[in-house]
Amino acid sequence: MLTTAADQAPRTDARADVPARTLLLNASGEPLCIVTLHRAVVLVMTGKATVLESDGHVLHSARVQMPAPVVLVLTRYVRVPTRRPVPPTRRTVLQRDDHRCAYCGGGADTVDHVHPRSRGGRHEWTNVVAACRRCNHRKADRTLHELGWELPFLPRAPRWSVTVGGAAGRPEPAWSPYLVA
Ligand SMILES: [Zn+2]
Repeated sequence: MLTTAADQAPRTDARADVPARTLLLNASGEPLCIVTLHRAVVLVMTGKATVLESDGHVLHSARVQMPAPVVLVLTRYVRVPTRRPVPPTRRTVLQRDDHRCAYCGGGADTVDHVHPRSRGGRHEWTNVVAACRRCNHRKADRTLHELGWELPFLPRAPRWSVTVGGAAGRPEPAWSPYLVA
């Protein structure tokens, strides 16, 4: 059945500017995963999902037309194992901060504890930032106040789950209302 529907599906490679990735939500609205546009079209064609957000493009085939999906929602709830919150690791912190040093804006490849661990700072999202080696070394175990440094943003937990943020790279801006920490 999937194969049949896929054969009839509108061409998904006809336009370069249609979204290549679609966010799939559970029927409950919880983000599940990222699917390819082709997979998204098959889910809609088979009635397993409906288009919640489109980018305005319309996909055409001889028999069907449908809005190009950016966000899909499953028509039936799928039970998934409980997902633990994303822990702050070197990889996830660098990803959250876009590999930019929080102190100088340069390329970052280390993680710094804003309030130093040696002085009671905790390893949690609100106390970690991406930092370049130079700034990390200069800051050492001092506080921002002691250095007269300021953070350009308030660190917080990222708004994506392991599945969405980890495997699929940066989330699309259109997905952000649906991604909660
Ligand atoms: Zn730096």
